[in-house]
Amino acid sequence: MEDYKTYTLQNYRSLPQISHIPDECIEAIEIVGRVFPFKTNSYVAERLIDWRNVPDDPIFTLSFPRREMLTPEQYARIRRLVYKQNKRALTDYVSQIRSRLNPHPSDQMRNVPAANGTRLEGMQHKYRETALLFPREGQNCFAFCSYCFRWSQFSGSDEFRFSTGADIAPYLAYVKEHREITDILLTGGDPLTMNPSILRNYIEQFLMPGMDHVRAIRIGTKSLSYNPSMFTTGRHAGAIISLFDKTVKTGKHLSIMAHFTHPVELSTDEAKAAIAAIRSSGAQIRTQAPVMKHINDDPRVWAAMWQRQVELGCVPYYMFVPRDTGARHFFELPLSRCHEIFRRAYSSVSGIARTAAGPCMSTGHGKIQVLGTSEIAGEKVFAMRFVQGQNPELPAVPFFARYDAEATWMDQLKPAFGEKKFFFEL
Ligand SMILES: *Cc1c(COP(=O)(O)O)cnc(C)c1O
Ligand code: SF4
Repeated sequence: MEDYKTYTLQNYRSLPQISHIPDECIEAIEIVGRVFPFKTNSYVAERLIDWRNVPDDPIFTLSFPRREMLTPEQYARIRRLVYKQNKRALTDYVSQIRSRLNPHPSDQMRNVPAANGTRLEGMQHKYRETALLFPREGQNCFAFCSYCFRWSQFSGSDEFRFSTGADIAPYLAYVKEHREITDILLTGGDPLTMNPSILRNYIEQFLMPGMDHVRAIRIGTKSLSYNPSMFTTGRHAGAIISLFDKTVKTGKHLSIMAHFTHPVELSTDEAKAAIAAIRSSGAQIRTQAPVMKHINDDPRVWAAMWQRQVELGCVPYYMFVPRDTGARHFFELPLSRCHEIFRRAYSSVSGIARTAAGPCMSTGHGKIQVLGTSEIAGEKVFAMRFVQGQNPELPAVPFFARYDAEATWMDQLKPAFGEKKFFFEL
């Protein structure tokens, strides 16, 4: 399914653009690349990265390990171990750092359902209407994002891997039994890394009799940014578009949940053609991304992204706050800043581009949106609400947290007005 040449730590030195990467950045790739899995491809390199602007280019930063993604101590120690060729100590230290990078934030493991006493490790059912499925064959990506919170999915530690087994029957039985599930979200990794016949097999299960309550199928993917030709000129393009087409013709909704990080990803002829091809099948494209320092922490970037998405027929859906995982210290932004970026972007586009919910934190209780800052009864507060809740009573109820200019996540906030707990903790 890979239509482009891929580059990893093993072969990136053969990139045609290698001479644009300064020596100190090459060293950083060698060192930091031991901790964060690194993979990119010729499409990203040729069409998305502006090599005159390395290392600060947003797509370079999205694609390549950078020195600042580790603390100076971690960097120095790995550097020493690499140069001493002390493989054993290096492996130990890398796994130590990785385990501290919190691969499963917000207790995601808690949302794994069970059927007849067995845990369905390839599923998360946190919100009543929507079940996430992690198809075994789709736990990979066309390229890796440096901020990915799912990298444990690809780093080879099975202990932390969400994935269906070879037998998906228990999953189907679970969905059949749970009539409240209206949406199936295929995710990963990137489910579109699967061969189309395997993808078809998954999708068709939800079109069968007994699955009438499943009204929408969503596919979470970054293929429009990392592998767009798969919908147009790629070997399997016809098969994929016709699968989408057939799915839509059954009367169910098919949504491609496209991960777009930066407007440059929407600027190429390849991406535009891919979007047009998907749209021609009748599938909808909704878009989402986290707001990240060094990559897209600018309201103009978000406004341009939403504007272009609407022009191309996509629907902006979520702006996420970066999670507590990976190189968080490098990417994180205060909630106040995230909201400021959202507000300025939102107010500079017209109503039809104001469909994204954001900035949203995906917490154990649900997705919490920062609505803004205000002053109530002499106290500066954040106004917030759930847009999605583990408890279906939580969404769309406004609540308040004491304002904190530095806080980057919900766990750093206190309820406003001297209250001991937030309403959802009562
Ligand atoms: C975001 C998310 C969903 C989808 O929520 P919608 O509001 O239906 O888009 C489902 N499950 C989990 C765990 C999620 O984080
Ligand atoms: S495409 Fe998504 S799952 Fe894959 S590396 Fe990027 S953020 Fe992670």
